[in-house]
Amino acid sequence: MIKRVLPRIAIILIFILALDFFLIGQLSREQMNDQRVEVSLQLAALRARLEKEITKNLLLVQGTANYIAIAPDQSQEKFARYAKEALSGENLLKNLGAAPDFVMRFVYPLEGNLKIVGMDYRKLPNQWKQAKRVKETGEMVIAGPLDLFQGGTGLIGRAPVFVESDKGKKFWGIVSAVIDVDKLFKVVDISDTGLDIAIRGVDGLGEEGDVFLGPPQLFTTPKAVRMPVTFPSGSWVLVAMPHGGWTHSHPLAFIVHTLLGLLLAATSFGVYRSAKRDFAIQAIQQNLNQAQSIAHLGSWRLDHINEEIWWSDETYRIFGVDKNTFVPTLERFLDMVHPDDMQKFLDAFQSSTDSCSEYEVNHRIIRPSGEIRHVQERGGTVCLLSGKTPTHAMGTVLDVTERALAEEELRASEEKMRAMSESSYDAVIVVDVNDVISFWNSAAEKMFGWKAEEVIGKQLHQLISPKEYHHQVTKGMKDFAQTGQGPLIGRVKEMPAVRRNGEVFLAERSVTSFKLGDSYLAVGSVRDITERKRLEQELRHYANRLTLASKAGGIGVWEWNLRTNDLKWDDQMFRLYGLESGEFDGIYEIWKSRVHPDDLYNVEQSLQIATEHTGFWESEFRVIWPSNQVRCIKAAALIEKNADGKPELLIGVNWDVTESREKENQLRRMATTDDMTKLNNRRYFIELVKSEIERSIRYSRPLSLVMFDVDKFKAVNDTYGHDVGDMVLKAIAATAKGVLRDVDIIGRLGGEEFAVGLPETDLKGAMLLAERLRVVLEEASVELPDGGIVDFTVSLGVAVLDRSITDVDVLLKHADLALYAAKENGRNRVEAYTQMMD
Ligand code: GH3
Ligand code: MG
Ligand code: MG
Repeated sequence: MIKRVLPRIAIILIFILALDFFLIGQLSREQMNDQRVEVSLQLAALRARLEKEITKNLLLVQGTANYIAIAPDQSQEKFARYAKEALSGENLLKNLGAAPDFVMRFVYPLEGNLKIVGMDYRKLPNQWKQAKRVKETGEMVIAGPLDLFQGGTGLIGRAPVFVESDKGKKFWGIVSAVIDVDKLFKVVDISDTGLDIAIRGVDGLGEEGDVFLGPPQLFTTPKAVRMPVTFPSGSWVLVAMPHGGWTHSHPLAFIVHTLLGLLLAATSFGVYRSAKRDFAIQAIQQNLNQAQSIAHLGSWRLDHINEEIWWSDETYRIFGVDKNTFVPTLERFLDMVHPDDMQKFLDAFQSSTDSCSEYEVNHRIIRPSGEIRHVQERGGTVCLLSGKTPTHAMGTVLDVTERALAEEELRASEEKMRAMSESSYDAVIVVDVNDVISFWNSAAEKMFGWKAEEVIGKQLHQLISPKEYHHQVTKGMKDFAQTGQGPLIGRVKEMPAVRRNGEVFLAERSVTSFKLGDSYLAVGSVRDITERKRLEQELRHYANRLTLASKAGGIGVWEWNLRTNDLKWDDQMFRLYGLESGEFDGIYEIWKSRVHPDDLYNVEQSLQIATEHTGFWESEFRVIWPSNQVRCIKAAALIEKNADGKPELLIGVNWDVTESREKENQLRRMATTDDMTKLNNRRYFIELVKSEIERSIRYSRPLSLVMFDVDKFKAVNDTYGHDVGDMVLKAIAATAKGVLRDVDIIGRLGGEEFAVGLPETDLKGAMLLAERLRVVLEEASVELPDGGIVDFTVSLGVAVLDRSITDVDVLLKHADLALYAAKENGRNRVEAYTQMMD
């Protein structure tokens, strides 16, 4: 405030000082004038007296000169008589002298002046100049004042004397007189004036002459009063000032100072008072503006009589308009009211105007920028006392946009939550920072046995927490109120909970929080995990039993999470794969790499079928140990699916079936294979050909059969022995196999008789093959240990499947007939079956 007041007071001070300066200036000028006039008057009087005295005395000198001019013939006595007469009156002359031809002859009075009698001016350089001037100018000349021989100060007046003669005027000499200056000053009362006086004008030279009285510096003092003193043949200059200098201070000056001082004090005080009031008003205004801006609360006033509207700063802000450019009118205000809320607003406002009452209405406004804000208006209409004529209305407008949006959001989120939570098995509960329930879904109703309408508005934890937890919860809610955080927020925690009937159960709670407006809300979901806990317990027992069982049976147990691709093995699994525990880090791909490549396709295929369709997997495959040992593994698994029916988890077992498979294989081989030649035995050969015949008939594909028999084998036996006969049979089997395709079926029908089934082969192809067999076998031989060679040949019969044949026996018979024909026709040859052979 001081900052604002000081400049104003400074201006006033300057103004008053200027006024004071001016007035005092005026007064002192006036004062000076008065004094100067006073001094001038005194000085003029002094001048008059001086002029009168000097002139009077100089006239005596002149008069003496005139007397001598007419009586030039003088003597001391004559002159003394004249002088005595002339000086008898009042005068200041100390003496009177006459010097014919510049030599002082006559002096009056003689007494005291004898010294100058006979004085020759010509011989006195000081005076000669003067004396000569007197003669030359023909006028009286003044000298001095100067110190006299006789003592004292004198002013010497000298006048020339010219005598009239026949030849005109003739210079006679000079007359001189000494005017007693001390006496002169006494006579004119120079010291009684009370003034400081100085006089210049030695030798009557006026301004040019030296100062002979008083302090010379008076002549340089600017304000001193000057005045000339003029007398015959010279002048002086008088200068004077009041004794002790001029008086500057006017008697009224003190009063002026005092009055102006009072004026200054009064106006300063006024300024201070008004500034203080302004300041207070400003502070109130500022406070109000600030308070309104903080509260988002604007205020307004509508004058019904002149339809003027006043808005507070905050009101302008709320409406998003510039205070400096926007002029509020009722019409412009209504323009900003949201059209959908217009009727509501008008109804409220109109009823207030009609009944001179208060109103409250919430509505939206549209700012010029297009932004929509929510406001709450409270106002009232003031009417004349006499009746119902409204004079003005006033009110407040509160920006409640944030709150309105938050409420809207809450409603929307509550809707959403309700919709979401209705289908939830979990109890969903919302509480505020005071633990007061605002939402309670139907699962909560079922779980706790309280209906929503019974619990909303009540404290949650009084209701559902066991007593021993109340203290902990109260503390947690306190933290939550301040920070939105708490020991439960964002965590899943198991805690006991209480049902309406007092039953305590284990609940899993997860709580999240969100901020609504200024405070927090907590959303908790509660799950009854009693059943889960029981199942977990049961599962643990079951797992233990399974562990025992699998250990005893050498069964490995694994679990494969399809979602995470995480494959878990127990220790036995590692043993089954020839690995150390930990050599396998539980990835499906690693397991795959251990499976025999030939079996992988089938295994994966069956896995896929199981996971997608059957839900149960069973497979057998070989695995290759790091030592390259191959083991046969039997596997089975159950597939667990999630709620959507998607497979999620496989729990399975593996066990080693290598030994039993080997035994089985051995048995199978024994049942189907000829032990010596390792070819299919007769029974199995016929079985295989049977199914090929069926296939060929079904698809109308050709099929042929070649039957062959060793020629004269009896002789081989007889010649080399039965063992060599066996060697021959083995050699034939191996050689024949080498000629055949994979799909061809070869078998030993018995003794030294063989047959080959040729799928997809017609007569021509069969004949070619038979011929090839014949050639190859003819060329083959068996080497004996002693170096001997045993050669052999075969005869072959070819039969082809045709429409008449539906049975393997018929085909075999045809081939046999053809073989017989080949024997008949000379052996080591091929014959095809013909009907004639029958
Ligand atoms: P061909 O067929 O040309 O008319 O004359 P063959 O001497 O081969 O005819 P045969 O059918 O009379 O003789 C077959 C002989 O084969 C009789 C039997 O001793 C001999 N044999 C049958 N099975 C075996 C066997 O497993 N080992 C040996 N070493 N000989 C066998
Ligand atoms: Mg034979
Ligand atoms: Mg035979």
